[in-house]
Amino acid sequence: MTGMTNTIITIVYSLAFSIGFLFSTPAASGREPEDFAQARERMVKEQLEARGISDPAVLAAMRRVPRHLFVPPSQGSLAYGDFPLPIGEGQTISQPYVVAFMTEALALKSDHRVLEIGTGSGYQAAVLGELVKDVYTVEIIKKLGEQARKTLIRLGYGNVHVKIGDGYAGWPKAAPFDAVIVTCAPEAVPPALVDQLREGGKMIIPVGARGGVQRLEWGVKKNGRLKTENTMYVRFVPMVRKGE
Ligand code: SAH
Repeated sequence: MTGMTNTIITIVYSLAFSIGFLFSTPAASGREPEDFAQARERMVKEQLEARGISDPAVLAAMRRVPRHLFVPPSQGSLAYGDFPLPIGEGQTISQPYVVAFMTEALALKSDHRVLEIGTGSGYQAAVLGELVKDVYTVEIIKKLGEQARKTLIRLGYGNVHVKIGDGYAGWPKAAPFDAVIVTCAPEAVPPALVDQLREGGKMIIPVGARGGVQRLEWGVKKNGRLKTENTMYVRFVPMVRKGE
């Protein structure tokens, strides 16, 4: 009798231990949505709020978007880490802090229409999609654009529109935009993107020579011209030309 009780106690104890273990190490071992939600919460507290991201709408969007579903399945457990990750085709999804910083810098409103250049995985577009009416995002690598479109549809981001094309041309038919965000780095701000930004609209864009670090420039369009200032140094993949 005592032996059996002991066995039951042991089973109950090890079950409780396993469940506790599952929930206490979300990012490392979790497959459960609950675990990913906890990892996201920690990402928001430790990587974003702790570094000064304070816009409640941006923080809420970062809490909601399931970043692990935008990276290759093999990278899922690393999705909420404080670093960029490979997404295939030699491209990367930015570090969560950089996504939040760039989003906050645009001071978005719920009726805004935003242009993104460099769809990649579609993660940044989804974060924008949580905040604004419509997102127009352009990707030059067909395979990535199509994959992102699928992910976005599956997750219900019907307000994010993906186009396969060359971002240097922007998306003239959907212009003007209230904000423009560029997540690949050109050597200079592409003129078409300034043309397609409305007067008073904001742009955030990494600018710099290939292979080096870039200045993450923040600008406002005034009297038809973009007035920029540097925010911080970053490292993005280059914004390539068609046919490269
Ligand atoms: N915002 C993305 C990450 C972008 S990585 C995310 O959240 O996952 C940069 C992307 O810019 C790559 O997918 C790359 O193919 C794309 N890119 C590079 N040059 C481009 C161009 N001229 N036009 C459109 N996209 C471009």
